[in-house]
Amino acid sequence: MNTRKKATQEIISFLQGNEKFLLLTGTYQNQKHILALSIILSKYPTPATILFRANHTGNIESFMAPILKLPRRPRAGIPFRIKGGYNLYFDTINLASWRLSPNNIDIAIVYPIDSLDYDKGDECVHELLRRNPQKVFLISWTDNKDFGWTSQFNPVYVVFDAEEERPDYHQRMIELLDSTPTPPTITKKLPKYAISTPDRFLVKILCRGRCRSTSWARLNLPYPGKSAVRSAPIGKFRAVCLKCGYEATDNYNWYR
Ligand SMILES: [Zn+2]
Repeated sequence: MNTRKKATQEIISFLQGNEKFLLLTGTYQNQKHILALSIILSKYPTPATILFRANHTGNIESFMAPILKLPRRPRAGIPFRIKGGYNLYFDTINLASWRLSPNNIDIAIVYPIDSLDYDKGDECVHELLRRNPQKVFLISWTDNKDFGWTSQFNPVYVVFDAEEERPDYHQRMIELLDSTPTPPTITKKLPKYAISTPDRFLVKILCRGRCRSTSWARLNLPYPGKSAVRSAPIGKFRAVCLKCGYEATDNYNWYR
């Protein structure tokens, strides 16, 4: 069972270890970020700068309410000083909010990651990495989205379920997740010639065959995310143009 105790131990050992990324999922919707942040604010060595990246400015106060009573509304670039030596900054997954966030951080938390995908998730995480964090927490709200884009960062996987503390809630979530089909991972409108290829094998290339233009192609392996594709050794990934059949190997050029 994915209990609070087990998740707590796993998060503490992540904070003490060498891994950089942690993916926290599970059925306990509103409790995961609370658990992670409370552990950070009591166990991570101070002084420490924490950047909490929310999905929307309007949600920050309610996200924080169970942990901290914020004395004022959060403003970009101005930290809350938390007892013990923590500086807590907020921004959102909207890139317009990133400009005033600190250049050097110890810990980044992205919550919830539900509205991020292969493109936006990649962009968001890479932007955080430029701020030299020691630890990056990616935390879900409801697990009915495709979080496959996070696997390119090799996260430590931690699951915190409601099963032990609120079994009825856990059960309802499981039923909800079973009844929600996984949405497509590519949200762009696909042309007819690409529709029958499963999303996970699709990538966009600059076709140097007959097309001489960008086109959708089929990968030899499931798409692991932009960073993983672009940094792979030449030859690991091959993509066959779905229009003309040209086989591309210039993976540093591909995107979605
Ligand atoms: Zn082509």
